[in-house]
Amino acid sequence: MVHVGIGYDVHALVAGRKLILGGVEIPHAKGLDGHSDADALMHAICDALLGALGEPDIGHFFPNTDPRWKNVPSRVFLEEAARLISLRPGKIVNVDATIVAQQPKVYPHIAEMKRRIALALNIPETHIGIKATTNEKMGFIGREEGIAAMAVAGIDW
Ligand code: MG
Repeated sequence: MVHVGIGYDVHALVAGRKLILGGVEIPHAKGLDGHSDADALMHAICDALLGALGEPDIGHFFPNTDPRWKNVPSRVFLEEAARLISLRPGKIVNVDATIVAQQPKVYPHIAEMKRRIALALNIPETHIGIKATTNEKMGFIGREEGIAAMAVAGIDW
């Protein structure tokens, strides 16, 4: 049976940090702040996968108080989610996600994000959807104070 999970994440945009989304470093004046590399897209996808397993969220498995996860690339979290899925045993049917960012334009980087997420999860790129939208200049995302991502995932287990 296919189980569906949902994930959402947001991180603040601050000076002096790299902007990493979907495992890709995107040239920008500001980056996402957080304990890990603050890759909101990979975090949302990770939560969607964990949700489809009925497991607790990413913070349960990788607490931001644990120095082991400081500045780690978030593909580590996706690899761990994939390992938990394989133990079930389960198979990822698909992942679909939306990035909400006013700036910078992330569209040119989506193909590379798909490649990196597919690699971390060991699934074909064709099973991954990534879209991006602005927030029409409204709210904290519109003021470029942060970037959010949401995701759904289907897992057959
Ligand atoms: Mg996060």
